[in-house]
Amino acid sequence: MGLDALNYDNQGLVAVIAQDAETGEVRMMAYADRTAIERTLETSEAHFFSRSRQKLWQKGESSGNTMSVREVWVDCDGDALIYLVDPAGPSCHTGQDTCFFRQLNTGGELVEGSTAGAAPTLLRLERILRERRASSADKSYTKSLLDAGPSKIDAKMREEAEELGQALIGESDDRVASEAGDVLYHLLVGLVLRDISLRDLLTVLSKRFSRSGHEEKASR
Ligand SMILES: [Zn+2]
Repeated sequence: MGLDALNYDNQGLVAVIAQDAETGEVRMMAYADRTAIERTLETSEAHFFSRSRQKLWQKGESSGNTMSVREVWVDCDGDALIYLVDPAGPSCHTGQDTCFFRQLNTGGELVEGSTAGAAPTLLRLERILRERRASSADKSYTKSLLDAGPSKIDAKMREEAEELGQALIGESDDRVASEAGDVLYHLLVGLVLRDISLRDLLTVLSKRFSRSGHEEKASR
């Protein structure tokens, strides 16, 4: 059986990385023994084994910031897992979304990362846009779009979509990629304006492709 085939260390543990199933952000790293993995699979809630307390624990059992687990993936050596999760709140006991909020700079010093953190590109971009919105002094392009409001963003979206369409019809791959980037950027600005998260958008998409096209079309 799969659980027996895992490559537990001499304390009976495997490493577990908890990754946001939608945004791809790495939220935390911990260890699990066989029982913790079984409990996770049975309940779809993330369970781990605490090395310091030498016991099973459920993520969020005291804080309420649970993590529901959609899928469990196993690495090639069988000694590490990924829990693909939907976090109910911040994942770190410090209150940060992710435990990975500090960075080693090139000089080897430990520094607090920017709010964008170690996130994948789209999530990082979303956080930067939110930061721009919040800043009062900022004279950035993003800030000017957000201040101008939905009609301005609508106009830019149409303009960029048209440029992307033209690039698709008759321009180079580089031009298509560049115009697609402009469309995505303006789309994210529109979401930030309405306070809709990238995670919400990605959830809509993943629900679509996890069902057959037929069912999905029928349900719309
Ligand atoms: Zn932490």
